[in-house]
Amino acid sequence: KLDFHPSGRHFLQIPGPSPVPDRILRAMSLPTIDHRGPEFGALGLALLDKIKRIFKTESPVIIYPASGTGAWEAALSNTLSPGDKVLMFETGHFATLWHKMARRLGLEPEFIGLPGYEGWRHGVQADMIESRLKDDVRHEIKAVCVVHNETSTGVTSDIAAVRRAIDAAGHPALLIVDTISGLACADYRHDEWGVDVTVSGSQKGLMLPPGISFNALSDKAIAVSQKARLPKSFWAWDEILEANKNGYWPYTPNTNLLYGLNEALDMLLEEGFDHVLERHQRWAAGVRTAVEAWGLEIQCQDPTVYSPVLTGVVMPEGIDADEVRRIIYERFDLSLGMGLGKAKGKMFRIGHLGDCNDLTLIATLGGCEAGMKLAGVALKGSGVTAALDYFANHPLKGDN
Ligand code: PLP
Repeated sequence: KLDFHPSGRHFLQIPGPSPVPDRILRAMSLPTIDHRGPEFGALGLALLDKIKRIFKTESPVIIYPASGTGAWEAALSNTLSPGDKVLMFETGHFATLWHKMARRLGLEPEFIGLPGYEGWRHGVQADMIESRLKDDVRHEIKAVCVVHNETSTGVTSDIAAVRRAIDAAGHPALLIVDTISGLACADYRHDEWGVDVTVSGSQKGLMLPPGISFNALSDKAIAVSQKARLPKSFWAWDEILEANKNGYWPYTPNTNLLYGLNEALDMLLEEGFDHVLERHQRWAAGVRTAVEAWGLEIQCQDPTVYSPVLTGVVMPEGIDADEVRRIIYERFDLSLGMGLGKAKGKMFRIGHLGDCNDLTLIATLGGCEAGMKLAGVALKGSGVTAALDYFANHPLKGDN
């Protein structure tokens, strides 16, 4: 509960759901229409075409009325059969949950990674994938599943390197990638990186509320899905692809969220997609400057894979990160991401994705700084001042 009567906007700085822009909220407030009528068909066709540009693919993108977890299940159940071996890489909490799901679906997932907590502070190690695939001389592993932007740690793995590893091993496994929190914030190239299924969601870089998720496909994934034997019905691509040819779905889609998606895609494409990605990189760099000025550690220990979506801030020994977050919420009406799984209580996460700007981030850092002081965290200096200087001295290109 807040310590005061709230006024002004709540600061939603968790790494998704991200703040929804007013323009999208307004678009979603239009009346719901007949999902089998001509107006809907035109909207459906426009959306299915525009969304490909965000995934950087020429192949179909399936849109589900479901959270990201649903699209995880869809990716596995459309491409795999009971007992199939799947190679997954432990990057953090979301990779762990996906691994658990694979087991529950009747697959045989193998979870590899750096020892102990190290995996939660680094990205996917493509060389480990390559050597495991080389050992699999009978090609029993049917898919390699990795998380692109690990939302629990703030690490964005190099997916092109994973593709190269699979190719170097001469292995036919499918490459299935979760970019639920990476899409439309971090650079992502479904076709160029040779990804077979990309899984994503609405409530992060696309700036929508939760409730839509995606599977971007490849020709190989579609061909494999025709023989895959895990049970599927609602998630099955075949009927959706058929209905999508005319802009419809085989069931009732979430019409108003699709209005929002249409608006979000227009916003991203009007701004210029490269500009969107650059904006996130710059915010992330500003936030890291603040963490450095505080004298604190960033959860990600490999600077080549710092996430442009969120930054994990590690608390000094003896400080409970959840207690710090509680103080920040109660005193400043600011929500930050908690440490999940193995990171519980050790760190908090600052989301810098979607509909933010320099000053919302400065305010966010202000809340963090004041809250940490109240919680007794010894800070080396002011992160707010450091980030302000960073933003002032690094104007975003095209912003004049
Ligand atoms: N994968 C990643 C990387 C995520 O960040 C999330 C949610 O935060 C999920 C999967 C699960 O998605 P959802 O909570 O929308 O079901």
